[in-house]
Amino acid sequence: MRVFIDLMWFFKQEKKAYISGILILAVVAVLHLIPPKIVGYIVDLIKENELTKGTLIKWIIVLIVTALAMYVLRYYWRIMIFGSSLKLARILRNRLFSYFTNMSSSFYQQKRVGDLMAHATNDLQAIQGTAGSGVLTFVDSLLTGGFVVIAMAATISWKLTLIALIPMPFMAILTNYYGSLLHKKFHKAQEAFSSLNDKTQESINGIKVIKTFGQEKEDIESFRAQSADVVKKNVAVAKIDSLFDPTISIVIGLSFFLSIVFGAKYVISNELTIGQLISFTTYLGLLIWPMLAFGSLFNILERGRASYERVSNLLSEPKEILDRPNAINTIPTGSIEYKVKSFHYPNETKPVLEDIHFQLKQGETLGIVGKTGAGKTTLIKLLLREFEGINGTILFGNNRIDEYRIDRLRESIGYVPQDHFLFSSTVKENIAFSDPLIDQTFIEKAAKIAHIHDDILQFTDGYETIVGEKGVSLSGGQKQRISIARALLKDPEVLILDDSLSAVDAKTEEAILKSLKEERSGKTTIITAHRLSAIKHANKIIVLENGKIIESGKHDVLMENDGWYKAMFVSQQLEELVELGGK
Ligand code: ADP
Repeated sequence: MRVFIDLMWFFKQEKKAYISGILILAVVAVLHLIPPKIVGYIVDLIKENELTKGTLIKWIIVLIVTALAMYVLRYYWRIMIFGSSLKLARILRNRLFSYFTNMSSSFYQQKRVGDLMAHATNDLQAIQGTAGSGVLTFVDSLLTGGFVVIAMAATISWKLTLIALIPMPFMAILTNYYGSLLHKKFHKAQEAFSSLNDKTQESINGIKVIKTFGQEKEDIESFRAQSADVVKKNVAVAKIDSLFDPTISIVIGLSFFLSIVFGAKYVISNELTIGQLISFTTYLGLLIWPMLAFGSLFNILERGRASYERVSNLLSEPKEILDRPNAINTIPTGSIEYKVKSFHYPNETKPVLEDIHFQLKQGETLGIVGKTGAGKTTLIKLLLREFEGINGTILFGNNRIDEYRIDRLRESIGYVPQDHFLFSSTVKENIAFSDPLIDQTFIEKAAKIAHIHDDILQFTDGYETIVGEKGVSLSGGQKQRISIARALLKDPEVLILDDSLSAVDAKTEEAILKSLKEERSGKTTIITAHRLSAIKHANKIIVLENGKIIESGKHDVLMENDGWYKAMFVSQQLEELVELGGK
């Protein structure tokens, strides 16, 4: 029952609907008592030879009216109670979604997507079940059960009622025991489902890799194993669940046995009429449903409790990156200065960046180069405040970046990540992501700077063409350029291109860089690249190796050093010459 206490906040919020639903349920439970009573009456009238056509018709009409009233009332309590439970699912779903969108990169690094999806689907369904069928079963079985017992004791025979109830405590003990077993098993079943969800999601995302490596069979095998595990754990739940019904049937059977044996004795000794005994056993039959319902209640509540615990545990994980009290509520502008002694990722000990000190004036372009894994992306992520725990500071304008509100800081930055992502919507919506209502001319302007406008006009529906998972497939270079246009639309203080020109050809790259220079004068740009031509004209270039700056300066200066930069530049030029020669 603890889950009802956990959900009390919701029941309070929806108290009108729940109270009305429960009152209607109570009326239905009382109406339930009428038919057995009438049957008993009629039997006694028949026995006494007193039944007339008129009385029979009268009682039949009462029976029909009762049945009709129950029909209508049942419809309403369903709406009240089940309707409210849908609201609970909606509230929790929205909470989860806004929680997911607010969490930082390190959260997503630790969590598996399939697991998060399972929380948002299966778990919410189980919680909704508790607030709907759970409440219904609990209240209805208590009311129906309670009223039936009262009717038996008060209107027929309290002695016989006590005798009929003798087997009940055994049932309470057993069902309680089954309930505690169920909780553990259900936790395991939900966890197995989470893993299966994760596996499915990963296989679908990685299908190309699976196929090109010919790993379909192995993947299907591993899916089968996990799927079998889910079945096994759910069967374990079902096994315990299945113990409820036989237990209840035995208990009810015993009650019937005792009632008939003792009831018959009372009829013979004239303590009861035969009609009363018939009413009594019919009432006993009415107790079967509340008992069975009580059994299934354990299942519903244990599912709900396990799922509510899972969701609450997830929601209680604190956000790691928070605004400081009195955070600055303006968009940062001005120069950027890194004073980073070191930085290591959460859960790692080895620093990925060390002694990163440089300054970038407003309006300048910074080029960051270095081998894969040198720390270029990490350096950028620190500016976006994706991770905390820097040993040192980064200044933006006159303040440290963590003194600004995070949303303000991010508003000032147009970031094009390495692994660009397009939503399954139109080109236009993808570009206008940060401002869906913006005028088309701005969208086209951004697309022109990113040199994707002409390509878009070639698509069948132009700017209205659907891209992403459900739409046309675009080349890597086209996706990159749409992502650049998306970042440019904000006309950000700082534009960051994280290896975002890798899939466009050298000529287009040059054209994009030229447009950026013209259109973004006075604004800062940071470019990481493998191809040095992308950063050759930068005001400042830094070369990273193993998280440290090994060279820095302008292109000309670096070319005078006999370092990594010069060697790389010469080798890339040679490659280009060879390629040109080959044409
Ligand atoms: P680059 O952009 O130069 O290729 P990265 O900044 O992506 O380099 O990576 C630098 C180092 O940090 C690499 O050794 C990489 O494995 C590690 N790294 C990157 N991202 C994470 C992360 N989220 N958690 C832990 N280590 C990471």
